[in-house]
Amino acid sequence: MEFRPDPELEAFRQTVRTFLREKLPVDLAHLSIGMFSPREAMSRWQAILHGQGWAAPSWPVDRGGTGWSVEQRLIFDDECSAAGTPTQDTFAQKLLGPVLNHFATPEQWQEHAPPILKGERKWCQGFSEPGAGSDLASLRTKAERRGDHYVVNGQKIWTTNAHRADWIFLLVRTDPEARKQAGISFLLVDMKTPGITVRPIWGIDGHHHLNEVFFDEVEVPAANLIGAENMGWSITKFLLNNEHAYTADLPLLKRYRGEMRRLAVTQSVGGTRLIDRPEVAHRIALFETELRAVEMMVQRTAALHGDQGHFAHAMGSMLKLRGTDLQQRMSVFMVELLGDSGAVADTQSTNDLAAEMFFRRASTIYGGSSEVQRGIVAKLMFGL
Ligand SMILES: Cc1cc2nc3c(=O)[nH]c(=O)nc-3n(C[C@H](O)[C@H](O)[C@H](O)COP(=O)(O)OP(=O)(O)OC[C@H]3O[C@@H](n4cnc5c(N)ncnc54)[C@H](O)[C@@H]3O)c2cc1C
Repeated sequence: MEFRPDPELEAFRQTVRTFLREKLPVDLAHLSIGMFSPREAMSRWQAILHGQGWAAPSWPVDRGGTGWSVEQRLIFDDECSAAGTPTQDTFAQKLLGPVLNHFATPEQWQEHAPPILKGERKWCQGFSEPGAGSDLASLRTKAERRGDHYVVNGQKIWTTNAHRADWIFLLVRTDPEARKQAGISFLLVDMKTPGITVRPIWGIDGHHHLNEVFFDEVEVPAANLIGAENMGWSITKFLLNNEHAYTADLPLLKRYRGEMRRLAVTQSVGGTRLIDRPEVAHRIALFETELRAVEMMVQRTAALHGDQGHFAHAMGSMLKLRGTDLQQRMSVFMVELLGDSGAVADTQSTNDLAAEMFFRRASTIYGGSSEVQRGIVAKLMFGL
């Protein structure tokens, strides 16, 4: 069998490459290998994408998206990853965006979607609480309707980037008497609202990404409720299904691959380049093969997009398991390639592989832990 590139897709790839060559500012390229790009860089890059009409590759075209096919989106990700562009705001683009496109009223969409497309408003996700992580439906943060407002009281935890976000999408309990899934609502809250306190949680990587967020008599306009009151769990299931599929983070794995290759040819031991040592070359070949397998799973899962069936859901979980396991092992290997210098964490650098390796320990926890994903696969695929 002979594989030939599709000429139309190859032409698309060239268009993306030309755009990146001409429009990606030098100071924004290769800012960081993995973790989060600085907020200012993300905003500038998002504005450039918006100017090109490419602000939301995965949104439908009538919602300001590109209307690209799955293959085109994967090519776009590929090329951005190779060029080292800043990341887009995942919370806004991949989690909240589809929710707005599906469930928001026209007024809500008009208020929130354009600032996301232009890179003017950053979001964070207020789901987890102390005592409600894997068992999210046990959440206790309460929202009580008083006139045309909800009054929110409670606490969220592990809220990534709450200290940099303008808004938070929040799960709250609006009916304490109902069965636990049935009493939850989905609220959009401006982080500047009085009564919100953000406290940092410092990570093992030496960085501040995570936070606790406290709500004390926080007044939220009832107009910020997405969907009907107490219908938040259906929206959450819709959102989490998207979350499992993206956490494999193929662009990140490809950046790791680029860095792994670079280190293998630039680092030497005893005058021999690492790539010329058979055991190193062998491990790199295995990683490349595993990465290709994850890429094929991503293509398969993406082709099921919109399908909310059991198989699609299980594929999302399998992808999360494979992708995050590979992220962890590749990030350890990169530090090994650095030898003694890899052991020194440099928290000031945006390309600190030791910090990256430590941060990725969390990848098998966030977005649903590996144990929980295995449970989902066992149930959906094997009926266990
Ligand atoms: C770096 C990072 C970023 C995060 N960002 C966010 C964010 O932005 N917003 C947000 O809302 N949340 C965020 N989270 C929270 C994340 O979603 C939760 O940590 C995760 O869902 C696990 O919940 P938990 O920490 O309460 O652990 P628990 O649910 O208490 O789990 C503890 C242990 O028990 C295991 N376990 C639990 N239930 C089962 C089961 N049914 N079967 C088998 N084993 C089980 C788990 O796998 C785990 O090992 C983040 C977490 C991390 C680490």
